[in-house]
Amino acid sequence: MKIDYLTLFPEMFDGVLNHSILKRAQEKEILTVNTVNFRDYAVNKHNQVDDYPFGGGQGMVLKPEPVFNAMKDLETTENTRVILMCPQGKPFSQAVAEELSQAEHLVFICGHYEGYDERIREHLVTDEISIGDYVLTGGELPAMSMTDAIVRLIPGVLGNQQSHQDDSFSDGLLEFPQYTRPREFEGMKVPDVLLSGNHANIDAWRHEQKLIRTFVKRPDLLTKYPLTSEDEKILENYKNQLKTK
Ligand code: SAM
Repeated sequence: MKIDYLTLFPEMFDGVLNHSILKRAQEKEILTVNTVNFRDYAVNKHNQVDDYPFGGGQGMVLKPEPVFNAMKDLETTENTRVILMCPQGKPFSQAVAEELSQAEHLVFICGHYEGYDERIREHLVTDEISIGDYVLTGGELPAMSMTDAIVRLIPGVLGNQQSHQDDSFSDGLLEFPQYTRPREFEGMKVPDVLLSGNHANIDAWRHEQKLIRTFVKRPDLLTKYPLTSEDEKILENYKNQLKTK
């Protein structure tokens, strides 16, 4: 995968892209990254990238020329996904990360100021994405969060292929509780089933815990999850236990 970032603050990417999994993905030549400061593509002698909004109003608007000109210099194909970071966009999710992890080339356009000239949105981008219902100062942190979530799903990036398959949201549920050594810590014990060596029982316990955890913490996810009759029973039992407490 190749990722280009159009940004006014390329230095912000150094720390995140040069550590941990994202660094390893580049070392393994699974990922290539490139930051472009679109201020270099400004058309007036002051390198101006923003201007006052037509019609008046608060704040400055990102001008079209620097972003359009920077895009012209990138090598793109018809499959390139040009992603506008924007709080008004489609909400980012694990499902969107999985879909984007199949792409060969992503371009993230990181905004700043009050907003973009609308012609950028209308004529340059294939996707508009938001990382949540809150407003950040710029698109750099959202682009980096998305990069991390996407790249770790590319086969070969994580050491153990299994390690993202159990992650929360991968199958629509939250992950089960995890324990490690010691078996007992200050009187707090690891559940017996995990020490039993019986993998069928462990898998059943983990599935039950995923259902209960999702019901308690994120019941909204269960409305989209295809519950089996066995799952319904597990949740009924749990609700009954709550009533008797
Ligand atoms: N005035 C804009 C609005 O209300 O939609 C918000 C502009 S925000 C201050 C500046 C830039 O930060 C945006 O253009 C976008 O690139 C980025 N940004 C802010 N919040 C974001 C979010 N939740 N998801 C993705 N990008 C975001």
